[in-house]
Amino acid sequence: MDRFYELLQKEYGIAPKYCDIAQEVEQACTPVFQQLEETKAFNQLKVLQAFRKLRIAPAHFAPSYGYGYGDIGREKLEALFSEIFDTEAALVRPAIASGTHALALVLFGLLHRGDLCMSASGRPYDTLESIIGIGEPAEGSLASLGVEYIQLELNKEQRIDLPALERLCKGKKPALVMLQRSRGYTDRASLTVEDIGQACAMVKQSSPKTVVLVDNCYGEFTDVWEPTEAGADLIAGSLIKNPGGGLAPTGGYIAGRAELIEKISYRLTSPGIGGEVGSYAASYMPFFQGLFLAPHVVCEALKGAVFTAAFFNKLGYSVSPAFDEKRSCIIQSVRFEKAEEVIAFCQAIQTVSPVDSFAVPEPWDMPGYAHPVIMAAGTFVQGASIELSADAPIRPPYIAYMQGGLVYEQVKAAVMAAAQRQGKDAV
Ligand SMILES: *Cc1c(COP(=O)(O)O)cnc(C)c1O
Repeated sequence: MDRFYELLQKEYGIAPKYCDIAQEVEQACTPVFQQLEETKAFNQLKVLQAFRKLRIAPAHFAPSYGYGYGDIGREKLEALFSEIFDTEAALVRPAIASGTHALALVLFGLLHRGDLCMSASGRPYDTLESIIGIGEPAEGSLASLGVEYIQLELNKEQRIDLPALERLCKGKKPALVMLQRSRGYTDRASLTVEDIGQACAMVKQSSPKTVVLVDNCYGEFTDVWEPTEAGADLIAGSLIKNPGGGLAPTGGYIAGRAELIEKISYRLTSPGIGGEVGSYAASYMPFFQGLFLAPHVVCEALKGAVFTAAFFNKLGYSVSPAFDEKRSCIIQSVRFEKAEEVIAFCQAIQTVSPVDSFAVPEPWDMPGYAHPVIMAAGTFVQGASIELSADAPIRPPYIAYMQGGLVYEQVKAAVMAAAQRQGKDAV
C-alpha cells in the first residue's frame, strides 16, 4: 500500500476502511483538482511576472524604523498588490490589524454624515455589524456618525438581486455599495467574480458616482481574475488569509482607484500625511514571500476543501459547496445533526495540526457572538485561517466551517481523522 496510508494507519490510528474511501474519493476529485491546478498555474505566473516587472530585490525586504519615510519595502509591496490586482493604488500594511480593520478604514475613510451605505449581498460578515451599527448602533459606528445603511437581500437563487439593485441605486444613489465575495459563515454560495462584475456594471449604470467595495476576504487567487478586474472600485482583505500565503505574520490590504485610496490613507494615518509614513521594524520578507506563494497555498487549501466535500458527502453528510461546484472562496461547510458531532469534528481537526496538536478546543462565549463557538486552529500565526482551521457556532443547524491548509496532505489526514471520530460508514 501507499506509504501515506501506511503511516496514517500506523501513527494516526486511521482505520483501513477510511483509507479505502479516501482513495476512491480522491479519484473522483481528480478532474476538479486539475481545474484548480490550472487556475493556480495562471495566478502563479501572473504573480511572478509582477515581481519581475517591479524588479523586486533583497533591499526591499529590509526593516524600516520611525516614520518610515521612503520605505522602499512598503512602497514595493503596495506596488505589487496594485499590479497583481490591476488597480491604480494600494495600501498594504502590517499596521492594518485584520480584514475587519481594512474594511473599516474604507468605510470610515469614504462615508460622511447623511451618506447611504448599502450591502447588496445580504447580511455582511459578523464583525462588520458593529462597524455599520446594525442592531444597536455601537459607539463609534457609522450609524452613530449619521451614515445610513440599507441591506439588499440575495434573491431565491442566492445571487445578487440585480433588478432591485438597479431600482435602489437609481432611487437612493448610495455613496457606497458593498459586496461580500465569500459566503462567510453562512449557508449561501460565494459570489463569483462574474456575479460581482454584473453587479458593478449595474451600479455604475444606475448611479455612476457610487463606489463599489468588495470584501475580498477568502477570495483572492481562487479564480483567474479579481473583482477589481471586473469593475469594483475597491477590494479589501486580510494578509493572514489568502494573499499572505501563510507566511505574512499580520496585516491587511486595500486596493483600488487612486483617488479613493488617498482618502482612505488619510483615515489610516492622518489627513495630509496619508500613506507616506509607516515603518515596520521586522523584515518585510514574509509579506513578499507569502504573496509569491499565495496562488500555490490557495490551491492547496481549495484541494483540501474539495476533498472534504467529497469525503463527507460520501459518508452521507450534507456539504456546501459540493466537491465539483465552482468555488470563489476557500470556505467549506459540513452539516451535522448534533452539537457533539460538530464538537468532535473540530477537536479531531485540531489533533492533525503542526502546532497545538495536543490541545482540545472547547466551545466558548466569544465576544460579539450570541452562541458559544468552537474553534480548531493549530496554526503558526494566531488566527490565520489560510492555515487549516475549523469553527462552528454551537446552535442548530450544526454546521462546521472549515478553511485553509498550507498543505493538502494535512487537510486530507485531518478530515479522515474527523470522519473516523464520527464513526460513520460510506453510504
Ligand atoms: C475574515 C473575514 C472578514 C474579517 O476579517 P478578520 O481578519 O477576521 O477581521 C471579513 N469578511 C469576510 C468575508 C471574512 O471572511
